[in-house]
Amino acid sequence: MSKKIAIDGPAGAGKSTIAKIVAKELGFIYVDTGAMYRAMALYMINNGIDASESEKISATCQTADITIRHENGAQRVFLNGEDVTEAVRREEVGKMASASSVNGDVRKKLVELQQKLSATTDVVMDGRDIGTVVLPDADLKVFLTASSKIRAERRFKELTEKGVECDINVIEKDIIDRDYQDSHREISPLKQADDAVLVDSSDMTIEEVAQKIIKLYEEK
Ligand code: C5P
Repeated sequence: MSKKIAIDGPAGAGKSTIAKIVAKELGFIYVDTGAMYRAMALYMINNGIDASESEKISATCQTADITIRHENGAQRVFLNGEDVTEAVRREEVGKMASASSVNGDVRKKLVELQQKLSATTDVVMDGRDIGTVVLPDADLKVFLTASSKIRAERRFKELTEKGVECDINVIEKDIIDRDYQDSHREISPLKQADDAVLVDSSDMTIEEVAQKIIKLYEEK
């Protein structure tokens, strides 16, 4: 049986950075499910579909072929054969992903893909519903969080370093809005699984959080 670690939590808690380190140290594959929802969102944007058009989203998602591949240990996401790894990181795509991921047809399609991937490979998978829906039998479930202020500061630093001009208050507001949207949707809302370990990364370094998760896994 393949081994599975599920890491869920709100945007900006450090899930992907930490999941990557944990996967590398344990020799597992890192699966970023947010990138799949983002690829689907990009497809909707490319097709001129608005976040409010749920019927169109349901119909259009059927023709999106989303796949992931690993190159030098890093995940790359493809949309109908095109590498969209960088394109999906745009702020506007993230917002659309948060809106279009409420759609049941979108979720069904991507959850199936995620379950298929983890059936044959040892994975560290991060997202919002991994411990609750995608991998209910995961060997370890972590719910990783941090205060919205800290998450906004981290995002601000990341964008500023890339030379992107931004306003920290706008970033924090976006984070709070996205948290609300993700945790109040009807299908698979963001919530801590009953058997998940809560880790608050507000006052921890990336390395401390990664080592804590590896220790939790090894103790299992
Ligand atoms: O993690 P990331 O910010 O890249 O995810 C983008 C959006 O995709 C999230 O705001 C969330 O709405 C959605 N998502 C989801 N379920 C997942 C992963 C991401 O609904 N497992």
